[in-house]
Amino acid sequence: MPNSLNPEPAGYRDVSFWMDTVPGPLAQRPPLGGDLDVDVVIVGAGYTGLWTAYYLTELDPRLRIAVLEREIAGFGASGRNGGWCSALFPASHDQVARASDQAAALAMQRAMIATVDEVGRVCEAEGIDAHWAKGGTLVAAVTPAQVERLRGSVAAAREFGLGEEDIRWLDAAEATGRVRVAGALGATYTPHCASVHPARLARGLAEAVERRGVTIYEGTPALALEPRAVRTPHGRVTAGVVVRATEGYTAELPGHHRAYLPIYSLMIATEPLGQDFWDEVGWARRETVADGRHVIVYAQRTADGRIAFGGRGAPYHLGSRVAPRFDREPKVFEDLARTLVELFPAAEDAKVTHTWGGPLAAPRDWFSSVSFDRRTGLAVAGGYVGDGVGASNLAGRTLADLITGTGSELAALPWVGHRSREWEPEPLRWLGVNAGFRLAASADRVENRRGRPARRGDLLDRLLGH
Ligand SMILES: Cc1cc2nc3c(=O)[nH]c(=O)nc-3n(C[C@H](O)[C@H](O)[C@H](O)COP(=O)(O)OP(=O)(O)OC[C@H]3O[C@@H](n4cnc5c(N)ncnc54)[C@H](O)[C@@H]3O)c2cc1C
Repeated sequence: MPNSLNPEPAGYRDVSFWMDTVPGPLAQRPPLGGDLDVDVVIVGAGYTGLWTAYYLTELDPRLRIAVLEREIAGFGASGRNGGWCSALFPASHDQVARASDQAAALAMQRAMIATVDEVGRVCEAEGIDAHWAKGGTLVAAVTPAQVERLRGSVAAAREFGLGEEDIRWLDAAEATGRVRVAGALGATYTPHCASVHPARLARGLAEAVERRGVTIYEGTPALALEPRAVRTPHGRVTAGVVVRATEGYTAELPGHHRAYLPIYSLMIATEPLGQDFWDEVGWARRETVADGRHVIVYAQRTADGRIAFGGRGAPYHLGSRVAPRFDREPKVFEDLARTLVELFPAAEDAKVTHTWGGPLAAPRDWFSSVSFDRRTGLAVAGGYVGDGVGASNLAGRTLADLITGTGSELAALPWVGHRSREWEPEPLRWLGVNAGFRLAASADRVENRRGRPARRGDLLDRLLGH
């Protein structure tokens, strides 16, 4: 429970279905009360900041750690996401291998796979009831073009070194036996994913790090990251190490404007669906579900029997602006509701009870990274695009090793110290990114018409740096 007397500020329940259904009050912890000196100051109380704090306390319980959060813990993407705790990494296997070598790329993938269970382990150990259910991921192919592309992805994974136990192709009967996605011609299946209630995870983690002696100052924006210091309106925090964990909001920090592109992902949640729906559709293991289109959609069956369904399609805003009004785009919500019914026609009459969205962060080459510069004391992790639920845990463990100088195999993974180039200045950035988004939508339309993969899809991959 937060050690705060502040009343629950209006509006935090509206952030997402998940924040609306988190147990207990969303009271704001007290802000920073003046200048402070600590060993490590972390900016941002999402998964990245909280996991980093968590593993630092594991490695050195004596460290004095402060977390500065502008709103409340879990306010950002960590309290809004689709709840896929997956082993996905946004850069392709080839791209990671090109930046390192084949063995290192495989080690990175294996580390991501192990991370899914690590999140489950900590939830269990810390009593965080995040509705963690490891049902794997099913990606349905609903057009011949998607069959071709998804089968190709299984073949590529095999060549890369992943086995049947990591990812395999299911024929139509097997696929629909797990989850009845309308029109599925087959699907890929990987067991390496758990469904979670993302806000329960974020809020539970915040309480876990507090129990370990970390102080979280909420309502405390970082105005600037300086060498071994953070400036806020309430005082200056000096520290040997400053951790930047601001993901989709990073562009707002002076000096970090072009590091990541904020991309909006939007979601809807239905009312709880009746047993007749689940009898028809199956979905018994709470698998995370998607189909093979270019404009990504993602679904989970929530613990209380709803479908939480999200997707891209919202525009990028000039100047990398992030604002609450961008969380809600009626046109995208309509598209999501329509796609949900296309994939699950039995949900046609289900009411949509919640709509929301939020910013995630894309580096220029889609290659997430973790780094620590001992000379300046600045540590950074992020750029997970849509795959940060698992990756932020690995990032937190890795940053803790790097900061404490603990020698580990994590510190040798190829995302450590990776540098993406900066995004282009405006208006080039706006023109290029929104053209890329339109290309993805038109590639899907072409595929639906012609039934074979669109060449625009290849162009899109190149644009995205894959
Ligand atoms: C709608 C949506 C769906 C997604 N679905 C999935 C999914 O299913 N699976 C998956 O793996 N990933 C998904 N993602 C991505 C995933 O949620 C993120 O990668 C992950 O939560 C990032 O965690 P974080 O701690 O780095 O960032 P955040 O959770 O965004 O945390 C950053 C925090 O920093 C705070 N902050 C920002 N600026 C300042 C400042 N100047 N001073 C103080 N505090 C500041 C913010 O308030 C915020 O709390 C999704 C994202 C969105 C938006």
